[in-house]
Amino acid sequence: MRLIFLGPPGAGKGTQAKLLTERYGIPQLSTGDMLRAAVAQATEVGKRAKAVMDAGQLVSDEIVNEIVSDRIDAPDCAKGFILDGYPRTVPQAIALDRMLESKGLKLDAVIELKVDEAALVRRMENRVAETIATGGTVRSDDNPEAFKRRLTEYREKTAPLSEHYAETGQLKTVDGMADVEAVTAEIDKILA
Ligand code: AMP
Repeated sequence: MRLIFLGPPGAGKGTQAKLLTERYGIPQLSTGDMLRAAVAQATEVGKRAKAVMDAGQLVSDEIVNEIVSDRIDAPDCAKGFILDGYPRTVPQAIALDRMLESKGLKLDAVIELKVDEAALVRRMENRVAETIATGGTVRSDDNPEAFKRRLTEYREKTAPLSEHYAETGQLKTVDGMADVEAVTAEIDKILA
């Protein structure tokens, strides 16, 4: 099973992807997590990506295409994977199409979580408050300004992907404002 989750930051892509990893025994590949790990380890990629990420802007297509291509060659991706946060631009989607073709692989579905932006800002504030209350570390891009910047980046660069995948006939849209269980049930129906 090879899936892509589309949706703005805070839409619940990560939450849904995690649930599916257990059900299908396939990994969730979050480019955001991979980049944050690279920043934490101060690798070459991490050093190049940090300032861009902190500003809520997108890291270059070249960097993310390469990390995804390497990652899907790993043995744990043999049965499939869930892409969360990638592709994020039309050129990334085109690069992914080519990458999968060259590896002899096909996508099963692209699931878009539709959400209301004002509600997303409230969700982000709650997530920060909960993280602080439980003694966790708040992401350096989880502040209202960077978050709004990420939403703008989404609208301008990622939203056009819906059209790309609608044209290929792979796009499935789910109401991301419903509660977690209801969203999961909708996704299950699509994948059944
Ligand atoms: P996320 O955890 O998916 O919200 O990603 C956090 C940050 O990582 C984003 O704001 C971007 O700076 C960067 N990032 C993650 N995935 C991508 C991608 N596919 N293309 C470009 N930048 C990305």
